[in-house]
Amino acid sequence: MTTLATTTDAPLSQGEMPLRFAFPGRASDLMQQHFRRDAEDACLSWKFRMYYRFRPWIPVPFRQLLQRGRNRSIDVANDWFLPTNFTRAFHSTVSQDPDQQVIHPWPDQHQMAVCLTHDVETDTGVGLVDRLATLEETLGFRSAWNFVPHKYKLDHGLIADLQDRGHEICVHGYNHDGRLFESRRIFNHRMQHINAAIRKFHSKGFRAPMVHRNLRWMQALDADYDASCFDVDPFQAMSGGIGSMWPFIAGKLVELPYTMPQDHTLLVTLGETTPRIWIEKLAFLRQHSAMALMITHPDYLDTAAALKVYDEFLKHLCEQSNAWSALPQEIAQWWRTRDAMTIQLCDSSSTITGDPAKRARLTSMSSLFPTNATG
Ligand SMILES: [Zn+2]
Repeated sequence: MTTLATTTDAPLSQGEMPLRFAFPGRASDLMQQHFRRDAEDACLSWKFRMYYRFRPWIPVPFRQLLQRGRNRSIDVANDWFLPTNFTRAFHSTVSQDPDQQVIHPWPDQHQMAVCLTHDVETDTGVGLVDRLATLEETLGFRSAWNFVPHKYKLDHGLIADLQDRGHEICVHGYNHDGRLFESRRIFNHRMQHINAAIRKFHSKGFRAPMVHRNLRWMQALDADYDASCFDVDPFQAMSGGIGSMWPFIAGKLVELPYTMPQDHTLLVTLGETTPRIWIEKLAFLRQHSAMALMITHPDYLDTAAALKVYDEFLKHLCEQSNAWSALPQEIAQWWRTRDAMTIQLCDSSSTITGDPAKRARLTSMSSLFPTNATG
């Protein structure tokens, strides 16, 4: 009997932080390469550092003007929301060992995972949470709500109510001023307060404001998962993108990258009036048996027109077959379970060992990623 590697051949390390990606062998090497590039790119330009330092004194309308001007000046291809560089290399990697047996990313015969999350940015956003949660509930969804513990007045009644209704509560940084990662000293100080909020909300997850990130520093989080990475998003101040569209293990954390374009980008920067880009990305993620993790903000879904676009997309989600709609904490828990499984080769057949193996299934890389999948 031979035990085959499941998520990766051996724990890969970035310094002291072990990394284990969704698939073993060459695919793992490729995901590691892209992750490392993201880790190197994930730093702020001096302009952004100065901007965040002086931001408290910049009037909000002028800030919005600056942000809009900067975002509109970014020159992107029509398919900017697809990680095409990564997937092109990924398909080439798959073609080198198409029969490789792997554990399907998702449990219970699901083809993909869908996960709704919200970052609540302001007091105004807090006031719009209930309306958005109710809209999701009428369509059968529950989601994760990321609150900023030291920016606005927290509504503990609302937080408890959301939890009672089956939603998840997470922590979104410290005070959302863009300076969390400015120095190790600032980060360490704020992390004590972030961890206190995680304990207070009984949270399992964290997302850094403006999706700034340093996963090595973030090992100090008392959380099960982080959701600050992304596959591709050219509009972020801290640029980069890991390319891959599945969770992975980064040290003590499960990392859940967001893979759907953010509402602010689509509705405010690009002025989209329909969910067509979300729908196109969802189809791409389905083709790759991936995770559609979405970030929207009650603050930006603040008009009837914006809410209608989100509502239309949720209705489209309802029509998806074999999509596992789950809270991020459930996906992180599944990912740890899958990560602990092994494939055992006995005579000529393979089986999965681990608990609960019956939720998992074996497949080959070529059936997961047929060559006709786009990208
Ligand atoms: Zn935010």
